[in-house]
Amino acid sequence: MERDIIIIGGGPAGLTAAIYTSRARYNTLVLEEKSIGGQIIITTEIENYPGFPKGILGPELAMLMEEQARKFGTEISYESVQKIDIDTKTIYTDQNKYTCKALIIATGATPSKLKLPKEEELTGRGISYCATCDGAFFKDQIVAVIGGGNTAVEEALFLTNFAKKVYLIHRRDKLRAEKCLQERIFANEKIEVIWNSIVHSIEGENTLTGINIKNKISGEITHLPLDGLFIFVGYTPKTDFIKDIIELDENGYIKVNEKKQTNIPWIFAAGDCVSKPYKQIATAVGDGCSAALSAIAYLEGY
Ligand code: FAD
Ligand code: NAP
Repeated sequence: MERDIIIIGGGPAGLTAAIYTSRARYNTLVLEEKSIGGQIIITTEIENYPGFPKGILGPELAMLMEEQARKFGTEISYESVQKIDIDTKTIYTDQNKYTCKALIIATGATPSKLKLPKEEELTGRGISYCATCDGAFFKDQIVAVIGGGNTAVEEALFLTNFAKKVYLIHRRDKLRAEKCLQERIFANEKIEVIWNSIVHSIEGENTLTGINIKNKISGEITHLPLDGLFIFVGYTPKTDFIKDIIELDENGYIKVNEKKQTNIPWIFAAGDCVSKPYKQIATAVGDGCSAALSAIAYLEGY
């Protein structure tokens, strides 16, 4: 099955690229392995995406982006891309194989793990990487959030809607999150920040019962009984399937030039999967636009 342009990933970057390439009348197929919207569908309120002064819910924004792409003729198929053959421009999914003239990779990222014993075993049994998905299970319970970035802080605030107590455990004495989010954390009586501390070990047999935290300065290890543990320590790019064919940086992010072109002339990349400092919806959307315009220029031959 031949397409002009294939886009891998239906998050903000991929959907924006699709709007541009479909409007330019290129036959465009978006391949999405899970849910259209990517990370924004696990987000509650989005307050910093322009055009929505009252904020917008993540799933609603995803729906609007999808509607806009489909309006211009974008085709969306729920398939997981497994392999790309560079020589024949063939994209292999778990269900089909397609050929295309240009490819845009917009596969985003997934939550990083602490890589501690019991972490995997107790995921879904007290350990979670999505407060929007699992927060409601912890009504009037005690939970901890690990991390000091925007995600950890936003999700800790969100969890106060359910939990009676939220510990925010950060490995330094300063949060990485934006100041306006920090102010809300410090003003919230349900949240207690535990500074300079990391998770030393996880406890529980069939369900999580607590963690042991280690103070990085004193070396002291303290037991913290918990019902829930939410881990937000950054993200890992979803680029494993292309690691042998496309140039990646030392952290696995795709290297692109300012036109969002990879080391392969007909392959472009956009959004959280590319090597860049700021990972936001607005930057993903900007990348998606640039990648699409570059793909169009490539196909037009200029
Ligand atoms: P993603 O949104 O990750 O989408 C990538 C898509 O590709 C996914 O749907 C995935 O399933 C699909 N995919 C991956 N691999 C394959 C494959 N092999 N085959 C097919 N499909 C594949 N940013 C803000 O600006 N404001 C906020 O308020 C905000 N809040 C956030 C809250 C949370 C909890 C999180 C996790 C992130 C938040 N962000 C926020 C960041 C923002 O969501 C991301 O920067 C943005 O979603 C990146 O878009 P993307 O399209 O590059 O990737
Ligand atoms: P992030 O900014 O990379 O922050 C990760 C946090 O986890 C950091 O505080 C880091 O500590 C900590 N950490 C990393 N590894 C750890 C480990 N092994 N043990 C303990 N702590 C660890 O990731 P993020 O917060 O998920 O954000 C990802 C991107 O999405 C960012 O660009 C962010 O701006 C964006 N985002 C934006 C919004 C918003 O605009 N409202 C909301 C959510 C996410 P250090 O600080 O010490 O490095």
